[in-house]
Amino acid sequence: MDDYKILLSEKEIPQSWYNLVPDLPFRLPPPINPVTGKPLQADELRTIFPKSLVEQEMSEERWIEIPFEVRDILRLWRPTPLRRARRLEKYLKTKARIYYKDESVSPTGSHKLNTAIAQAYYNKKEGIKRLATETGAGQWGAALSFACNVFSLKCRVYMVKVSYHQKPFRKSLMRIWGAEIIASPSKLTASGRKILKEDPNCHGSLGIAISEAVEEAAKDKTTNYALGSVLNHVLLHQTVIGLEAKKQLKLLDEEPDFLIACVGGGSNFGGLILPFVKDKFKNPGLRIIAVEPFACPSLTKGKYEYDFGDTASLTPLIKMFTLGHRYIPPAIHAGGLRYHGCSPLVSALQDKDIIEAVAYNQIEVFKAAEIFAKAEGIVPAPETAHAVKAVIEVAKRAKKSQCILFNFSGHGFLDLASYDKFLNGELVNHAHPIKEIKAALKHLPKL
Ligand SMILES: *Cc1c(COP(=O)(O)O)cnc(C)c1O
Repeated sequence: MDDYKILLSEKEIPQSWYNLVPDLPFRLPPPINPVTGKPLQADELRTIFPKSLVEQEMSEERWIEIPFEVRDILRLWRPTPLRRARRLEKYLKTKARIYYKDESVSPTGSHKLNTAIAQAYYNKKEGIKRLATETGAGQWGAALSFACNVFSLKCRVYMVKVSYHQKPFRKSLMRIWGAEIIASPSKLTASGRKILKEDPNCHGSLGIAISEAVEEAAKDKTTNYALGSVLNHVLLHQTVIGLEAKKQLKLLDEEPDFLIACVGGGSNFGGLILPFVKDKFKNPGLRIIAVEPFACPSLTKGKYEYDFGDTASLTPLIKMFTLGHRYIPPAIHAGGLRYHGCSPLVSALQDKDIIEAVAYNQIEVFKAAEIFAKAEGIVPAPETAHAVKAVIEVAKRAKKSQCILFNFSGHGFLDLASYDKFLNGELVNHAHPIKEIKAALKHLPKL
Protein backbone atom coordinates (compact mmCIF):
# COMPACT_ATOMS: atom_id res chain seq x y z
CA MET A 1 0.00 0.00 0.00
CA ASP A 2 2.88 2.41 -0.45
CA ASP A 3 2.46 3.39 -4.08
CA TYR A 4 3.34 6.91 -5.13
CA LYS A 5 0.79 6.95 -7.93
CA ILE A 6 -2.49 5.28 -8.70
CA LEU A 7 -3.07 4.86 -12.42
CA LEU A 8 -6.14 3.87 -14.44
CA SER A 9 -6.19 2.46 -17.96
CA GLU A 10 -7.48 4.47 -20.94
CA LYS A 11 -10.70 2.41 -20.90
CA GLU A 12 -11.48 3.89 -17.50
CA ILE A 13 -11.82 7.47 -18.70
CA PRO A 14 -15.41 8.35 -17.69
CA GLN A 15 -18.06 7.62 -20.38
CA SER A 16 -20.23 10.51 -19.16
CA TRP A 17 -19.86 13.86 -17.46
CA TYR A 18 -21.68 14.32 -14.14
CA ASN A 19 -24.18 17.13 -13.73
CA LEU A 20 -24.82 17.99 -10.06
CA VAL A 21 -27.85 20.22 -10.78
CA PRO A 22 -30.58 17.49 -10.56
CA ASP A 23 -29.06 16.25 -7.28
CA LEU A 24 -29.15 19.65 -5.57
CA PRO A 25 -31.73 20.09 -2.78
CA PHE A 26 -32.43 23.61 -4.11
CA ARG A 27 -32.84 25.28 -7.50
CA LEU A 28 -30.02 27.30 -9.01
CA PRO A 29 -31.02 30.94 -9.61
CA PRO A 30 -31.34 31.24 -13.42
CA PRO A 31 -29.28 33.64 -15.56
CA ILE A 32 -31.23 36.82 -16.30
CA ASN A 33 -31.52 38.87 -19.48
CA PRO A 34 -30.42 42.36 -18.34
CA VAL A 35 -32.75 44.09 -20.80
CA THR A 36 -36.01 42.27 -20.03
CA GLY A 37 -35.16 41.38 -16.42
CA LYS A 38 -36.54 37.89 -17.13
CA PRO A 39 -34.82 34.48 -16.97
CA LEU A 40 -32.69 33.91 -20.02
CA GLN A 41 -34.09 31.70 -22.80
CA ALA A 42 -31.87 29.12 -24.46
CA ASP A 43 -32.10 30.78 -27.90
CA GLU A 44 -30.72 34.03 -26.48
CA LEU A 45 -27.39 32.29 -25.94
CA ARG A 46 -27.30 30.86 -29.46
CA THR A 47 -25.67 33.96 -30.98
CA ILE A 48 -22.41 33.08 -29.25
CA PHE A 49 -22.63 29.37 -28.25
CA PRO A 50 -23.51 26.17 -30.18
CA LYS A 51 -26.82 24.42 -29.42
CA SER A 52 -25.27 21.43 -27.64
CA LEU A 53 -23.37 23.62 -25.18
CA VAL A 54 -26.45 25.76 -24.47
CA GLU A 55 -28.35 22.53 -23.74
CA GLN A 56 -25.60 21.40 -21.39
CA GLU A 57 -25.56 24.82 -19.72
CA MET A 58 -29.25 24.45 -18.82
CA SER A 59 -29.40 20.68 -18.49
CA GLU A 60 -31.25 18.84 -15.73
CA GLU A 61 -29.86 15.45 -16.83
CA ARG A 62 -27.60 13.79 -14.28
CA TRP A 63 -25.27 12.10 -16.80
CA ILE A 64 -24.27 13.50 -20.20
CA GLU A 65 -22.44 11.17 -22.53
CA ILE A 66 -18.96 12.22 -23.64
CA PRO A 67 -18.79 11.95 -27.47
CA PHE A 68 -16.39 9.35 -28.81
CA GLU A 69 -14.32 12.01 -30.64
CA VAL A 70 -13.79 13.92 -27.38
CA ARG A 71 -12.84 10.84 -25.36
CA ASP A 72 -10.45 9.87 -28.11
CA ILE A 73 -8.51 13.14 -27.70
CA LEU A 74 -8.73 13.03 -23.89
CA ARG A 75 -6.84 9.72 -24.16
CA LEU A 76 -3.72 11.72 -25.13
CA TRP A 77 -3.20 12.41 -21.41
CA ARG A 78 -6.14 10.95 -19.45
CA PRO A 79 -6.72 9.30 -17.05
CA THR A 80 -4.40 11.53 -15.06
CA PRO A 81 -2.43 10.04 -12.16
CA LEU A 82 -3.63 10.27 -8.58
CA ARG A 83 -0.45 10.83 -6.59
CA ARG A 84 0.23 10.32 -2.91
CA ALA A 85 2.37 13.16 -1.58
CA ARG A 86 4.36 10.87 0.71
CA ARG A 87 7.46 13.01 0.74
CA LEU A 88 5.45 16.14 1.56
CA GLU A 89 3.68 14.22 4.37
CA LYS A 90 7.04 13.25 5.77
CA TYR A 91 8.41 16.78 5.55
CA LEU A 92 5.34 18.13 7.36
CA LYS A 93 5.42 15.28 9.91
CA THR A 94 1.68 15.05 9.44
CA LYS A 95 -0.65 12.24 10.38
CA ALA A 96 -2.77 13.08 7.32
CA ARG A 97 -2.60 11.19 4.03
CA ILE A 98 -2.29 13.67 1.17
CA TYR A 99 -3.37 12.78 -2.38
CA TYR A 100 -3.40 14.98 -5.45
CA LYS A 101 -5.02 14.60 -8.83
CA ASP A 102 -2.29 15.62 -11.25
CA GLU A 103 -3.88 17.63 -14.06
CA SER A 104 -0.49 19.12 -14.96
CA VAL A 105 0.22 16.16 -17.27
CA SER A 106 -2.03 17.53 -20.05
CA PRO A 107 -0.24 18.75 -23.21
CA THR A 108 -0.87 22.38 -22.24
CA GLY A 109 0.05 21.84 -18.58
CA SER A 110 -3.32 22.38 -16.89
CA HIS A 111 -6.86 21.05 -16.48
CA LYS A 112 -8.23 23.58 -18.99
CA LEU A 113 -7.79 21.24 -21.95
CA ASN A 114 -10.58 18.99 -20.58
CA THR A 115 -13.21 21.55 -21.57
CA ALA A 116 -11.34 23.16 -24.49
CA ILE A 117 -11.47 19.87 -26.42
CA ALA A 118 -15.20 19.44 -25.77
CA GLN A 119 -16.04 23.05 -26.67
CA ALA A 120 -14.04 23.00 -29.92
CA TYR A 121 -15.64 19.67 -30.86
CA TYR A 122 -19.26 20.88 -30.49
CA ASN A 123 -18.56 24.15 -32.30
CA LYS A 124 -16.95 22.32 -35.21
CA LYS A 125 -19.82 19.83 -35.36
CA GLU A 126 -22.32 22.68 -35.63
CA GLY A 127 -20.53 24.37 -38.52
CA ILE A 128 -18.67 27.15 -36.71
CA LYS A 129 -15.41 28.28 -38.35
CA ARG A 130 -13.74 30.33 -35.65
CA LEU A 131 -13.68 30.78 -31.87
CA ALA A 132 -12.96 34.00 -30.00
CA THR A 133 -11.93 33.92 -26.38
CA GLU A 134 -10.17 35.71 -23.53
CA THR A 135 -7.18 34.60 -21.53
CA GLY A 136 -5.41 35.93 -18.44
CA ALA A 137 -2.15 34.18 -17.67
CA GLY A 138 -2.58 32.21 -20.91
CA GLN A 139 -3.49 28.68 -19.83
CA TRP A 140 -6.97 28.92 -21.29
CA GLY A 141 -5.74 30.60 -24.47
CA ALA A 142 -3.15 27.86 -24.92
CA ALA A 143 -5.69 25.10 -24.27
CA LEU A 144 -8.25 26.51 -26.69
CA SER A 145 -5.56 27.10 -29.33
CA PHE A 146 -4.56 23.44 -29.17
CA ALA A 147 -8.20 22.28 -29.22
CA CYS A 148 -8.98 24.48 -32.25
CA ASN A 149 -5.91 23.11 -33.97
CA VAL A 150 -7.16 19.54 -33.33
CA PHE A 151 -10.57 20.27 -34.87
CA SER A 152 -9.34 22.66 -37.63
CA LEU A 153 -11.00 25.80 -36.27
CA LYS A 154 -9.52 29.29 -36.35
CA CYS A 155 -8.88 30.84 -32.95
CA ARG A 156 -8.51 34.44 -31.78
CA VAL A 157 -7.38 35.06 -28.20
CA TYR A 158 -7.81 38.40 -26.42
CA MET A 159 -5.07 38.29 -23.82
CA VAL A 160 -5.08 40.62 -20.78
CA LYS A 161 -2.45 43.25 -21.68
CA VAL A 162 -0.38 42.97 -18.52
CA SER A 163 0.00 39.21 -19.04
CA TYR A 164 0.60 39.69 -22.78
CA HIS A 165 3.74 41.63 -21.84
CA GLN A 166 4.72 39.79 -18.64
CA LYS A 167 4.09 36.19 -19.69
CA PRO A 168 5.40 35.69 -23.22
CA PHE A 169 5.84 31.92 -23.23
CA ARG A 170 2.20 30.86 -23.40
CA LYS A 171 1.88 33.27 -26.33
CA SER A 172 4.49 31.14 -28.05
CA LEU A 173 2.39 28.04 -27.36
CA MET A 174 -0.70 29.69 -28.84
CA ARG A 175 1.28 30.67 -31.92
CA ILE A 176 2.61 27.12 -32.37
CA TRP A 177 -0.98 25.88 -32.41
CA GLY A 178 -1.94 28.54 -34.93
CA ALA A 179 -3.95 31.06 -32.90
CA GLU A 180 -4.00 34.83 -33.30
CA ILE A 181 -3.27 36.75 -30.09
CA ILE A 182 -4.49 40.29 -29.40
CA ALA A 183 -3.46 42.36 -26.36
CA SER A 184 -6.61 43.50 -24.55
CA PRO A 185 -7.97 46.18 -24.33
CA SER A 186 -7.53 46.51 -28.11
CA LYS A 187 -8.78 48.91 -30.75
CA LEU A 188 -10.48 46.07 -32.65
CA THR A 189 -13.70 46.23 -30.64
CA ALA A 190 -16.05 48.97 -29.42
CA SER A 191 -15.63 47.69 -25.85
CA GLY A 192 -11.84 47.90 -26.12
CA ARG A 193 -11.92 51.37 -27.69
CA LYS A 194 -14.24 52.66 -24.95
CA ILE A 195 -11.93 51.45 -22.19
CA LEU A 196 -8.84 52.87 -23.94
CA LYS A 197 -10.57 56.24 -24.31
CA GLU A 198 -11.18 56.35 -20.55
CA ASP A 199 -7.70 55.07 -19.73
CA PRO A 200 -5.13 54.77 -22.56
CA ASN A 201 -2.74 52.96 -20.16
CA CYS A 202 -5.29 50.40 -18.97
CA HIS A 203 -3.46 47.11 -18.40
CA GLY A 204 -6.59 45.05 -18.89
CA SER A 205 -8.63 42.51 -16.98
CA LEU A 206 -10.42 39.25 -17.72
CA GLY A 207 -13.72 41.14 -17.62
CA ILE A 208 -12.54 43.49 -20.41
CA ALA A 209 -11.09 40.68 -22.54
CA ILE A 210 -14.38 38.78 -22.22
CA SER A 211 -16.27 41.86 -23.47
CA GLU A 212 -14.03 42.02 -26.55
CA ALA A 213 -14.37 38.33 -27.40
CA VAL A 214 -18.15 38.24 -26.78
CA GLU A 215 -18.64 41.38 -28.89
CA GLU A 216 -16.76 39.82 -31.78
CA ALA A 217 -18.64 36.52 -31.56
CA ALA A 218 -22.02 38.27 -31.39
CA LYS A 219 -21.27 40.19 -34.61
CA ASP A 220 -20.10 37.30 -36.77
CA LYS A 221 -22.30 34.29 -37.60
CA THR A 222 -19.41 31.89 -38.18
CA THR A 223 -17.54 32.94 -35.02
CA ASN A 224 -18.56 31.72 -31.58
CA TYR A 225 -17.31 32.55 -28.13
CA ALA A 226 -15.66 30.06 -25.76
CA LEU A 227 -15.29 30.56 -22.01
CA GLY A 228 -12.61 28.75 -20.01
CA SER A 229 -14.37 28.67 -16.64
CA VAL A 230 -17.41 29.88 -14.64
CA LEU A 231 -20.30 28.43 -16.70
CA ASN A 232 -22.12 25.18 -15.89
CA HIS A 233 -21.05 23.42 -19.09
CA VAL A 234 -17.39 24.18 -18.36
CA LEU A 235 -17.60 22.72 -14.85
CA LEU A 236 -19.50 19.77 -16.32
CA HIS A 237 -16.62 18.95 -18.70
CA GLN A 238 -14.18 19.19 -15.79
CA THR A 239 -16.00 16.51 -13.75
CA VAL A 240 -13.79 13.88 -15.39
CA ILE A 241 -11.27 14.96 -12.72
CA GLY A 242 -13.44 14.09 -9.72
CA LEU A 243 -14.94 10.99 -11.36
CA GLU A 244 -11.50 9.51 -12.02
CA ALA A 245 -10.25 10.49 -8.56
CA LYS A 246 -13.21 8.69 -6.96
CA LYS A 247 -12.32 5.47 -8.78
CA GLN A 248 -8.67 5.84 -7.84
CA LEU A 249 -9.40 6.41 -4.14
CA LYS A 250 -11.75 3.44 -4.15
CA LEU A 251 -8.91 1.21 -5.35
CA LEU A 252 -7.13 2.21 -2.12
CA ASP A 253 -10.24 1.89 0.04
CA GLU A 254 -9.89 5.59 0.85
CA GLU A 255 -12.55 8.23 1.37
CA PRO A 256 -11.58 11.89 1.57
CA ASP A 257 -12.07 13.94 4.76
CA PHE A 258 -10.97 17.10 2.93
CA LEU A 259 -11.33 18.18 -0.70
CA ILE A 260 -9.27 21.23 -1.62
CA ALA A 261 -8.77 23.23 -4.83
CA CYS A 262 -7.97 26.79 -5.85
CA VAL A 263 -10.69 28.99 -7.32
CA GLY A 264 -10.47 31.51 -10.14
CA GLY A 265 -13.74 31.07 -12.00
CA GLY A 266 -14.30 27.75 -10.26
CA SER A 267 -13.69 25.14 -12.97
CA ASN A 268 -10.86 23.04 -11.52
CA PHE A 269 -12.52 23.25 -8.09
CA GLY A 270 -15.89 22.23 -9.52
CA GLY A 271 -14.29 19.50 -11.62
CA LEU A 272 -12.81 17.90 -8.53
CA ILE A 273 -15.58 18.39 -6.01
CA LEU A 274 -18.93 18.21 -7.84
CA PRO A 275 -18.93 14.38 -8.01
CA PHE A 276 -18.34 14.32 -4.22
CA VAL A 277 -21.12 16.76 -3.17
CA LYS A 278 -23.68 13.95 -2.87
CA ASP A 279 -21.31 12.24 -0.40
CA LYS A 280 -21.24 15.44 1.63
CA PHE A 281 -25.04 15.31 1.97
CA LYS A 282 -24.62 11.84 3.56
CA ASN A 283 -21.47 12.69 5.49
CA PRO A 284 -21.52 16.32 6.69
CA GLY A 285 -18.04 15.79 8.18
CA LEU A 286 -16.53 15.96 4.68
CA ARG A 287 -14.96 19.40 4.32
CA ILE A 288 -14.74 21.03 0.91
CA ILE A 289 -12.42 24.04 0.79
CA ALA A 290 -12.08 26.62 -2.00
CA VAL A 291 -8.86 28.66 -1.95
CA GLU A 292 -8.48 32.13 -3.42
CA PRO A 293 -5.99 35.04 -3.30
CA PHE A 294 -6.45 38.05 -1.01
CA ALA A 295 -5.86 40.10 -4.16
CA CYS A 296 -9.11 38.84 -5.72
CA PRO A 297 -11.29 37.52 -2.89
CA SER A 298 -14.68 36.98 -4.55
CA LEU A 299 -15.91 34.10 -2.33
CA THR A 300 -14.56 35.47 0.95
CA LYS A 301 -15.16 39.22 0.46
CA GLY A 302 -17.57 39.49 -2.48
CA LYS A 303 -21.35 39.66 -2.47
CA TYR A 304 -23.76 36.95 -3.68
CA GLU A 305 -25.70 39.02 -6.21
CA TYR A 306 -26.66 39.16 -9.86
CA ASP A 307 -23.82 40.73 -11.87
CA PHE A 308 -22.43 40.88 -15.39
CA GLY A 309 -19.76 38.40 -16.39
CA ASP A 310 -17.80 41.10 -18.23
CA THR A 311 -16.80 44.74 -17.83
CA ALA A 312 -18.76 46.21 -20.76
CA SER A 313 -22.03 44.62 -19.51
CA LEU A 314 -22.57 42.51 -22.65
CA THR A 315 -23.23 39.17 -20.94
CA PRO A 316 -26.37 37.95 -19.19
CA LEU A 317 -26.62 38.55 -15.45
CA ILE A 318 -25.58 35.63 -13.32
CA LYS A 319 -26.05 35.19 -9.61
CA MET A 320 -22.59 34.70 -8.20
CA PHE A 321 -20.13 35.88 -5.59
CA THR A 322 -18.70 38.98 -7.21
CA LEU A 323 -16.34 41.87 -6.57
CA GLY A 324 -18.26 43.89 -9.17
CA HIS A 325 -17.79 43.64 -12.95
CA ARG A 326 -15.74 46.83 -12.99
CA TYR A 327 -13.08 45.27 -10.77
CA ILE A 328 -9.59 45.57 -12.27
CA PRO A 329 -6.99 43.51 -10.42
CA PRO A 330 -3.63 44.99 -9.42
CA ALA A 331 -0.96 44.38 -12.07
CA ILE A 332 1.51 43.34 -9.37
CA HIS A 333 -0.31 40.13 -8.44
CA ALA A 334 1.73 37.20 -9.77
CA GLY A 335 -0.54 34.35 -8.77
CA GLY A 336 -3.37 34.33 -11.34
CA LEU A 337 -6.97 33.72 -10.19
CA ARG A 338 -8.06 37.25 -11.06
CA TYR A 339 -11.67 36.97 -12.26
CA HIS A 340 -14.13 39.34 -10.53
CA GLY A 341 -16.84 36.70 -10.19
CA CYS A 342 -17.19 32.98 -9.66
CA SER A 343 -19.12 30.05 -11.08
CA PRO A 344 -22.85 30.29 -10.22
CA LEU A 345 -22.80 26.63 -9.19
CA VAL A 346 -19.81 27.05 -6.84
CA SER A 347 -21.31 30.32 -5.56
CA ALA A 348 -24.59 28.59 -4.67
CA LEU A 349 -22.70 25.84 -2.81
CA GLN A 350 -20.83 28.53 -0.88
CA ASP A 351 -24.03 30.43 -0.13
CA LYS A 352 -25.61 27.23 1.27
CA ASP A 353 -22.49 26.46 3.37
CA ILE A 354 -21.92 23.18 1.52
CA ILE A 355 -18.40 24.37 0.81
CA GLU A 356 -16.14 26.84 2.65
CA ALA A 357 -13.59 29.35 1.34
CA VAL A 358 -10.23 30.69 2.53
CA ALA A 359 -7.91 33.37 1.10
CA TYR A 360 -4.11 33.70 1.26
CA ASN A 361 -1.45 36.26 0.38
CA GLN A 362 0.80 35.59 -2.56
CA ILE A 363 4.07 35.38 -0.62
CA GLU A 364 2.82 32.63 1.72
CA VAL A 365 1.41 30.89 -1.35
CA PHE A 366 4.77 30.89 -3.14
CA LYS A 367 6.44 29.67 0.07
CA ALA A 368 4.05 26.71 0.10
CA ALA A 369 4.80 26.07 -3.57
CA GLU A 370 8.51 25.98 -2.79
CA ILE A 371 7.98 23.44 -0.01
CA PHE A 372 5.89 21.31 -2.35
CA ALA A 373 8.41 21.51 -5.20
CA LYS A 374 11.25 20.54 -2.89
CA ALA A 375 9.36 17.55 -1.52
CA GLU A 376 7.50 16.27 -4.57
CA GLY A 377 9.65 17.57 -7.42
CA ILE A 378 6.81 19.15 -9.40
CA VAL A 379 6.65 22.95 -9.54
CA PRO A 380 3.02 24.03 -9.11
CA ALA A 381 1.41 26.78 -11.18
CA PRO A 382 1.00 29.87 -8.96
CA GLU A 383 -2.77 29.26 -9.06
CA THR A 384 -2.33 25.66 -7.93
CA ALA A 385 0.00 26.85 -5.17
CA HIS A 386 -3.02 28.42 -3.42
CA ALA A 387 -4.47 24.93 -2.99
CA VAL A 388 -1.07 23.65 -1.85
CA LYS A 389 -0.95 26.36 0.85
CA ALA A 390 -4.36 25.30 2.21
CA VAL A 391 -3.37 21.62 2.10
CA ILE A 392 -0.24 22.32 4.15
CA GLU A 393 -2.27 24.26 6.73
CA VAL A 394 -4.86 21.48 7.05
CA ALA A 395 -2.20 18.75 7.18
CA LYS A 396 -0.20 20.59 9.88
CA ARG A 397 -3.32 20.76 12.06
CA ALA A 398 -4.51 17.19 11.43
CA LYS A 399 -4.79 15.49 14.83
CA LYS A 400 -5.65 12.07 13.48
CA SER A 401 -5.07 10.10 10.32
CA GLN A 402 -7.20 12.03 7.85
CA CYS A 403 -7.40 11.81 4.07
CA ILE A 404 -6.84 14.99 2.05
CA LEU A 405 -7.45 15.10 -1.70
CA PHE A 406 -6.53 18.17 -3.69
CA ASN A 407 -6.53 19.18 -7.31
CA PHE A 408 -3.10 19.85 -8.78
CA SER A 409 -4.56 22.04 -11.53
CA GLY A 410 -1.33 22.76 -13.42
CA HIS A 411 2.44 23.07 -13.41
CA GLY A 412 4.42 26.29 -13.20
CA PHE A 413 7.05 25.76 -15.89
CA LEU A 414 5.80 28.76 -17.84
CA ASP A 415 5.50 30.87 -14.69
CA LEU A 416 9.15 30.74 -13.69
CA ALA A 417 9.43 34.54 -13.97
CA SER A 418 7.00 34.77 -11.03
CA TYR A 419 9.11 32.27 -9.10
CA ASP A 420 12.22 34.33 -9.84
CA LYS A 421 10.48 37.39 -8.38
CA PHE A 422 9.60 35.38 -5.30
CA LEU A 423 13.13 33.98 -4.91
CA ASN A 424 14.60 37.47 -5.38
CA GLY A 425 12.33 38.82 -2.65
CA GLU A 426 10.56 41.10 -5.10
CA LEU A 427 7.00 39.90 -4.55
CA VAL A 428 4.73 42.07 -2.45
CA ASN A 429 1.46 41.10 -0.82
CA HIS A 430 -1.61 42.90 -1.98
CA ALA A 431 -4.94 42.48 -0.28
CA HIS A 432 -7.67 44.07 -2.35
CA PRO A 433 -8.79 47.06 -0.20
CA ILE A 434 -12.29 46.73 1.27
CA LYS A 435 -12.93 50.35 0.23
CA GLU A 436 -12.32 49.52 -3.43
CA ILE A 437 -14.47 46.41 -3.20
CA LYS A 438 -17.30 48.47 -1.74
CA ALA A 439 -16.91 51.08 -4.48
CA ALA A 440 -16.98 48.46 -7.26
CA LEU A 441 -20.01 46.78 -5.69
CA LYS A 442 -21.93 50.05 -5.97
CA HIS A 443 -22.08 49.42 -9.72
CA LEU A 444 -23.93 46.13 -9.42
CA PRO A 445 -26.87 46.12 -11.84
CA LYS A 446 -30.29 46.82 -10.32
CA LEU A 447 -32.96 44.24 -11.03
C1 LIG B 1 -7.06 28.79 -15.06
C2 LIG B 1 -6.42 28.07 -13.98
C3 LIG B 1 -6.94 28.08 -12.67
C4 LIG B 1 -8.13 28.90 -12.28
O1 LIG B 1 -9.30 28.70 -13.01
P1 LIG B 1 -10.49 27.85 -12.46
O2 LIG B 1 -11.54 27.97 -13.51
O3 LIG B 1 -10.93 28.42 -11.16
O4 LIG B 1 -9.99 26.46 -12.32
C5 LIG B 1 -6.30 27.35 -11.71
N1 LIG B 1 -5.19 26.63 -11.97
C6 LIG B 1 -4.66 26.59 -13.22
C7 LIG B 1 -3.41 25.80 -13.44
C8 LIG B 1 -5.25 27.30 -14.26
O5 LIG B 1 -4.74 27.25 -15.47
